[in-house]
Amino acid sequence: MNPVTMRAWRVDAPRGIDRKPIIARREALPRPGPGELLARVLACGVCRTDLHVVEGDLPVHRPHVVPGHEVVAEVVATAERGEFTVGDRVGIPWLRHTCGVCEFCRKGTENLCPASRYTGWDTDGGYAEYVTVPIDFALALPAGYEDRELAPLLCAGIIGYRALTRALVPEGGALGIYGFGGSAHLTAQVALARGARVHVMTRGAAARELALGLGVASVQRAADPPPERLDSAILFAPVGELVPPALEALGAGGTLAVAGIHLTDIPPLDYQRHLFGERQIRSVTSNTRTDAREFLEFAARHRLRVTTHPYPLERADQALSDLAHGRFDGAAVLLP
Ligand SMILES: [Zn+2]
Ligand SMILES: [Zn+2]
Repeated sequence: MNPVTMRAWRVDAPRGIDRKPIIARREALPRPGPGELLARVLACGVCRTDLHVVEGDLPVHRPHVVPGHEVVAEVVATAERGEFTVGDRVGIPWLRHTCGVCEFCRKGTENLCPASRYTGWDTDGGYAEYVTVPIDFALALPAGYEDRELAPLLCAGIIGYRALTRALVPEGGALGIYGFGGSAHLTAQVALARGARVHVMTRGAAARELALGLGVASVQRAADPPPERLDSAILFAPVGELVPPALEALGAGGTLAVAGIHLTDIPPLDYQRHLFGERQIRSVTSNTRTDAREFLEFAARHRLRVTTHPYPLERADQALSDLAHGRFDGAAVLLP
Protein backbone atom coordinates (compact mmCIF):
# COMPACT_ATOMS: atom_id res chain seq x y z
CA MET A 1 0.00 0.00 0.00
CA ASN A 2 1.26 3.44 -0.89
CA PRO A 3 0.84 6.20 1.69
CA VAL A 4 -1.80 8.88 1.17
CA THR A 5 0.52 11.84 1.45
CA MET A 6 4.13 12.54 0.61
CA ARG A 7 6.85 15.12 1.14
CA ALA A 8 7.60 17.42 -1.80
CA TRP A 9 9.48 20.64 -2.50
CA ARG A 10 7.72 23.27 -4.59
CA VAL A 11 8.92 26.54 -6.04
CA ASP A 12 7.37 29.30 -3.91
CA ALA A 13 8.47 32.11 -6.23
CA PRO A 14 11.59 32.12 -8.42
CA ARG A 15 14.37 34.11 -6.75
CA GLY A 16 17.99 33.78 -5.67
CA ILE A 17 18.72 30.41 -4.04
CA ASP A 18 19.72 31.96 -0.72
CA ARG A 19 16.33 33.75 -0.46
CA LYS A 20 14.37 30.49 -0.04
CA PRO A 21 12.74 30.10 -3.47
CA ILE A 22 11.52 26.54 -2.70
CA ILE A 23 9.45 25.30 0.23
CA ALA A 24 8.86 21.80 1.57
CA ARG A 25 5.31 20.60 2.27
CA ARG A 26 3.16 17.51 2.67
CA GLU A 27 0.66 16.88 -0.05
CA ALA A 28 -1.38 14.16 -1.78
CA LEU A 29 0.42 11.70 -4.03
CA PRO A 30 0.30 12.60 -7.75
CA ARG A 31 -2.21 10.66 -9.86
CA PRO A 32 -0.89 9.03 -13.03
CA GLY A 33 -2.80 10.05 -16.16
CA PRO A 34 -3.53 7.80 -19.15
CA GLY A 35 -0.33 6.17 -20.40
CA GLU A 36 1.58 7.11 -17.23
CA LEU A 37 3.31 5.26 -14.41
CA LEU A 38 3.30 6.18 -10.73
CA ALA A 39 6.72 5.64 -9.19
CA ARG A 40 8.37 5.94 -5.77
CA VAL A 41 11.50 8.09 -5.93
CA LEU A 42 14.70 6.25 -4.93
CA ALA A 43 17.11 9.07 -5.80
CA CYS A 44 16.92 12.41 -7.61
CA GLY A 45 19.92 14.28 -8.98
CA VAL A 46 20.34 18.02 -8.46
CA CYS A 47 21.04 19.59 -11.85
CA ARG A 48 22.10 23.14 -12.70
CA THR A 49 18.89 23.43 -14.71
CA ASP A 50 16.95 23.02 -11.44
CA LEU A 51 18.80 26.09 -10.22
CA HIS A 52 17.77 27.96 -13.38
CA VAL A 53 14.13 26.93 -12.73
CA VAL A 54 14.06 27.96 -9.05
CA GLU A 55 16.05 31.17 -9.53
CA GLY A 56 13.98 32.31 -12.54
CA ASP A 57 16.68 32.20 -15.23
CA LEU A 58 14.16 30.08 -17.14
CA PRO A 59 10.58 31.38 -17.55
CA VAL A 60 7.91 29.82 -15.33
CA HIS A 61 6.11 27.04 -17.20
CA ARG A 62 4.17 25.52 -14.30
CA PRO A 63 3.75 27.79 -11.25
CA HIS A 64 4.87 26.13 -7.99
CA VAL A 65 6.40 23.21 -9.88
CA VAL A 66 8.23 20.40 -8.07
CA PRO A 67 11.79 20.56 -9.55
CA GLY A 68 13.94 17.55 -10.36
CA HIS A 69 14.52 15.63 -13.60
CA GLU A 70 17.21 13.04 -12.83
CA VAL A 71 14.86 10.64 -11.12
CA VAL A 72 15.55 7.01 -10.33
CA ALA A 73 12.28 5.46 -9.20
CA GLU A 74 10.49 2.18 -8.59
CA VAL A 75 7.23 1.65 -10.44
CA VAL A 76 4.37 1.26 -7.92
CA ALA A 77 1.34 1.53 -10.22
CA THR A 78 0.70 1.36 -13.93
CA ALA A 79 -2.58 2.04 -15.67
CA GLU A 80 -1.87 -0.14 -18.68
CA ARG A 81 0.47 -2.82 -19.96
CA GLY A 82 3.70 -1.53 -21.39
CA GLU A 83 7.45 -1.89 -21.22
CA PHE A 84 7.47 -1.56 -17.41
CA THR A 85 5.65 -3.30 -14.58
CA VAL A 86 5.29 -2.77 -10.83
CA GLY A 87 8.65 -3.24 -9.11
CA ASP A 88 10.80 -2.16 -12.08
CA ARG A 89 13.46 0.49 -11.58
CA VAL A 90 13.04 3.26 -14.17
CA GLY A 91 14.76 6.50 -15.06
CA ILE A 92 12.71 9.68 -15.42
CA PRO A 93 14.65 12.29 -17.42
CA TRP A 94 14.17 15.91 -18.49
CA LEU A 95 12.38 15.13 -21.78
CA ARG A 96 8.80 14.14 -20.96
CA HIS A 97 6.71 14.74 -24.06
CA THR A 98 7.09 15.40 -27.78
CA CYS A 99 4.30 15.63 -30.34
CA GLY A 100 5.52 12.83 -32.63
CA VAL A 101 4.13 14.48 -35.80
CA CYS A 102 6.02 17.75 -36.39
CA GLU A 103 8.91 18.01 -38.89
CA PHE A 104 11.51 17.66 -36.10
CA CYS A 105 9.89 14.61 -34.52
CA ARG A 106 9.61 12.97 -37.95
CA LYS A 107 13.25 13.54 -38.88
CA GLY A 108 14.79 12.31 -35.62
CA THR A 109 15.37 15.63 -33.86
CA GLU A 110 12.53 15.46 -31.34
CA ASN A 111 14.71 17.54 -28.99
CA LEU A 112 13.64 20.51 -31.15
CA CYS A 113 9.90 19.68 -31.07
CA PRO A 114 8.04 22.96 -30.37
CA ALA A 115 5.46 21.06 -28.32
CA SER A 116 8.04 19.36 -26.09
CA ARG A 117 7.50 19.29 -22.32
CA TYR A 118 9.97 18.73 -19.51
CA THR A 119 10.01 17.05 -16.11
CA GLY A 120 10.49 19.48 -13.22
CA TRP A 121 9.57 22.50 -15.39
CA ASP A 122 6.29 21.79 -17.21
CA THR A 123 5.26 18.97 -14.86
CA ASP A 124 6.18 18.00 -11.30
CA GLY A 125 9.52 16.31 -10.88
CA GLY A 126 11.57 14.30 -8.41
CA TYR A 127 12.15 16.60 -5.41
CA ALA A 128 9.41 14.50 -3.82
CA GLU A 129 8.69 10.96 -2.65
CA TYR A 130 6.46 10.02 -5.61
CA VAL A 131 6.32 11.09 -9.23
CA THR A 132 4.52 10.21 -12.46
CA VAL A 133 6.01 9.63 -15.90
CA PRO A 134 4.59 8.79 -19.35
CA ILE A 135 5.53 5.18 -20.10
CA ASP A 136 6.95 6.20 -23.50
CA PHE A 137 9.44 8.58 -21.87
CA ALA A 138 10.57 6.39 -18.95
CA LEU A 139 14.00 4.83 -19.44
CA ALA A 140 15.31 1.35 -18.70
CA LEU A 141 18.40 1.59 -16.47
CA PRO A 142 21.72 -0.29 -16.67
CA ALA A 143 22.54 -2.89 -14.01
CA GLY A 144 25.59 -2.60 -11.78
CA TYR A 145 24.97 0.90 -10.43
CA GLU A 146 23.50 2.15 -7.16
CA ASP A 147 20.39 4.34 -7.34
CA ARG A 148 22.35 7.43 -6.45
CA GLU A 149 24.93 6.73 -9.16
CA LEU A 150 22.23 6.36 -11.81
CA ALA A 151 20.55 9.70 -11.03
CA PRO A 152 23.24 11.98 -12.53
CA LEU A 153 23.38 9.84 -15.66
CA LEU A 154 19.82 10.86 -16.49
CA CYS A 155 20.52 14.47 -17.42
CA ALA A 156 24.14 15.31 -16.77
CA GLY A 157 25.14 12.11 -18.53
CA ILE A 158 22.65 12.18 -21.40
CA ILE A 159 23.02 15.89 -22.24
CA GLY A 160 26.80 15.59 -21.98
CA TYR A 161 26.60 12.66 -24.39
CA ARG A 162 24.65 14.77 -26.88
CA ALA A 163 27.14 17.63 -26.41
CA LEU A 164 29.95 15.21 -27.20
CA THR A 165 28.13 14.17 -30.38
CA ARG A 166 27.59 17.84 -31.31
CA ALA A 167 31.30 18.59 -30.73
CA LEU A 168 32.26 16.29 -33.65
CA VAL A 169 35.41 14.87 -32.05
CA PRO A 170 37.44 13.14 -34.79
CA GLU A 171 38.95 9.68 -34.28
CA GLY A 172 41.90 10.04 -31.87
CA GLY A 173 41.31 13.80 -31.63
CA ALA A 174 41.93 16.39 -28.93
CA LEU A 175 38.90 17.52 -26.90
CA GLY A 176 38.85 20.52 -24.55
CA ILE A 177 36.34 20.51 -21.70
CA TYR A 178 35.55 23.89 -20.11
CA GLY A 179 34.03 23.54 -16.64
CA PHE A 180 34.17 20.23 -14.81
CA GLY A 181 31.04 19.44 -12.80
CA GLY A 182 28.47 16.64 -12.85
CA SER A 183 27.99 16.51 -16.62
CA ALA A 184 31.62 17.07 -17.65
CA HIS A 185 33.05 14.34 -15.44
CA LEU A 186 30.79 11.76 -17.11
CA THR A 187 31.33 13.08 -20.64
CA ALA A 188 35.10 13.03 -20.17
CA GLN A 189 34.92 9.30 -19.43
CA VAL A 190 32.95 8.61 -22.62
CA ALA A 191 35.46 10.64 -24.67
CA LEU A 192 38.41 8.86 -23.05
CA ALA A 193 36.85 5.44 -23.65
CA ARG A 194 36.55 6.38 -27.34
CA GLY A 195 40.24 7.26 -27.54
CA ALA A 196 40.17 11.09 -27.40
CA ARG A 197 42.88 13.11 -25.64
CA VAL A 198 41.01 15.25 -23.14
CA HIS A 199 42.17 18.59 -21.74
CA VAL A 200 40.18 20.10 -18.87
CA MET A 201 39.96 23.84 -18.15
CA THR A 202 38.28 24.63 -14.83
CA ARG A 203 38.63 27.02 -11.89
CA GLY A 204 38.31 24.47 -9.06
CA ALA A 205 41.45 22.77 -7.76
CA ALA A 206 39.41 19.77 -6.54
CA ALA A 207 37.76 19.45 -9.96
CA ARG A 208 41.20 19.45 -11.60
CA GLU A 209 42.24 16.62 -9.23
CA LEU A 210 39.09 14.66 -10.12
CA ALA A 211 39.84 15.10 -13.83
CA LEU A 212 43.42 13.89 -13.46
CA GLY A 213 42.16 10.85 -11.53
CA LEU A 214 39.97 9.94 -14.53
CA GLY A 215 42.97 9.97 -16.85
CA VAL A 216 42.72 13.25 -18.76
CA ALA A 217 45.84 14.46 -20.60
CA SER A 218 46.09 17.84 -18.86
CA VAL A 219 44.31 20.29 -16.55
CA GLN A 220 44.44 24.11 -16.72
CA ARG A 221 42.75 27.08 -15.14
CA ALA A 222 39.34 28.11 -16.51
CA ALA A 223 40.46 30.36 -19.39
CA ASP A 224 44.06 29.19 -19.87
CA PRO A 225 45.15 27.72 -23.23
CA PRO A 226 45.47 23.92 -23.47
CA PRO A 227 48.89 22.45 -24.38
CA GLU A 228 47.81 21.53 -27.92
CA ARG A 229 45.36 22.76 -30.58
CA LEU A 230 41.91 21.34 -29.99
CA ASP A 231 39.83 19.56 -32.62
CA SER A 232 36.73 20.00 -30.49
CA ALA A 233 35.63 21.68 -27.27
CA ILE A 234 32.60 21.53 -25.01
CA LEU A 235 31.64 24.46 -22.79
CA PHE A 236 29.89 23.11 -19.69
CA ALA A 237 30.31 26.18 -17.45
CA PRO A 238 27.36 28.56 -18.02
CA VAL A 239 29.84 31.37 -18.57
CA GLY A 240 29.77 33.28 -21.87
CA GLU A 241 33.19 34.84 -21.17
CA LEU A 242 34.72 31.41 -21.82
CA VAL A 243 33.47 31.26 -25.42
CA PRO A 244 36.29 33.42 -26.89
CA PRO A 245 39.17 31.51 -25.22
CA ALA A 246 37.53 28.19 -26.15
CA LEU A 247 37.19 29.25 -29.81
CA GLU A 248 40.76 30.56 -29.81
CA ALA A 249 42.01 27.18 -28.58
CA LEU A 250 40.47 25.39 -31.58
CA GLY A 251 42.49 24.48 -34.64
CA ALA A 252 41.17 25.12 -38.17
CA GLY A 253 37.87 23.37 -38.76
CA GLY A 254 37.34 22.87 -35.03
CA THR A 255 33.98 22.80 -33.28
CA LEU A 256 32.83 24.27 -29.97
CA ALA A 257 29.61 22.84 -28.49
CA VAL A 258 27.86 24.83 -25.76
CA ALA A 259 26.17 22.31 -23.46
CA GLY A 260 24.13 24.53 -21.14
CA ILE A 261 20.48 25.54 -21.42
CA HIS A 262 21.46 28.98 -20.11
CA LEU A 263 24.62 31.01 -20.78
CA THR A 264 25.69 34.46 -19.61
CA ASP A 265 26.35 36.98 -22.39
CA ILE A 266 29.07 36.12 -24.89
CA PRO A 267 31.55 39.02 -25.25
CA PRO A 268 32.14 40.47 -28.75
CA LEU A 269 34.07 38.05 -30.96
CA ASP A 270 36.97 38.93 -33.24
CA TYR A 271 36.31 37.22 -36.56
CA GLN A 272 39.98 36.46 -37.31
CA ARG A 273 40.95 35.37 -33.82
CA HIS A 274 37.88 33.37 -32.92
CA LEU A 275 36.06 32.11 -36.02
CA PHE A 276 38.04 32.32 -39.27
CA GLY A 277 39.49 29.01 -40.42
CA GLU A 278 36.03 27.41 -40.40
CA ARG A 279 35.83 27.12 -36.67
CA GLN A 280 32.21 26.80 -35.56
CA ILE A 281 30.10 27.14 -32.44
CA ARG A 282 27.05 24.90 -31.93
CA SER A 283 24.42 24.89 -29.21
CA VAL A 284 22.98 21.78 -27.58
CA THR A 285 19.24 21.68 -26.97
CA SER A 286 17.89 18.99 -24.66
CA ASN A 287 18.21 15.48 -26.08
CA THR A 288 16.32 12.84 -27.98
CA ARG A 289 15.24 9.50 -26.54
CA THR A 290 17.77 7.93 -28.90
CA ASP A 291 20.56 9.94 -27.20
CA ALA A 292 19.30 8.71 -23.83
CA ARG A 293 19.18 5.04 -24.85
CA GLU A 294 22.58 5.17 -26.56
CA PHE A 295 24.20 6.75 -23.51
CA LEU A 296 22.61 4.31 -21.05
CA GLU A 297 23.71 1.40 -23.24
CA PHE A 298 27.23 2.84 -23.16
CA ALA A 299 26.99 3.06 -19.36
CA ALA A 300 25.93 -0.60 -19.26
CA ARG A 301 29.06 -1.64 -21.20
CA HIS A 302 31.55 0.76 -19.55
CA ARG A 303 31.33 1.10 -15.78
CA LEU A 304 31.38 4.89 -15.36
CA ARG A 305 32.77 6.38 -12.17
CA VAL A 306 30.05 8.64 -10.82
CA THR A 307 31.12 11.05 -8.09
CA THR A 308 28.02 11.80 -5.99
CA HIS A 309 27.33 13.98 -2.97
CA PRO A 310 24.22 12.66 -1.21
CA TYR A 311 21.79 14.94 0.63
CA PRO A 312 18.58 13.90 2.41
CA LEU A 313 15.44 15.11 0.60
CA GLU A 314 14.86 17.53 3.52
CA ARG A 315 18.00 19.41 2.49
CA ALA A 316 17.20 20.03 -1.18
CA ASP A 317 17.51 23.79 -0.63
CA GLN A 318 21.00 23.33 0.82
CA ALA A 319 22.02 21.10 -2.09
CA LEU A 320 20.94 23.79 -4.58
CA SER A 321 22.75 26.48 -2.62
CA ASP A 322 25.93 24.38 -2.50
CA LEU A 323 25.66 23.83 -6.26
CA ALA A 324 25.19 27.57 -6.86
CA HIS A 325 28.26 28.39 -4.78
CA GLY A 326 30.43 25.59 -6.20
CA ARG A 327 30.87 23.91 -2.80
CA PHE A 328 31.34 20.38 -4.17
CA ASP A 329 32.55 18.57 -7.27
CA GLY A 330 30.68 15.83 -9.09
CA ALA A 331 26.92 15.56 -8.70
CA ALA A 332 24.56 16.19 -5.78
CA VAL A 333 21.81 13.59 -5.31
CA LEU A 334 18.74 13.75 -3.06
CA LEU A 335 17.78 10.59 -1.20
CA PRO A 336 14.30 10.25 0.33
ZN1 LIG B 1 7.16 17.32 -32.45
ZN1 LIG C 1 19.46 18.59 -16.02
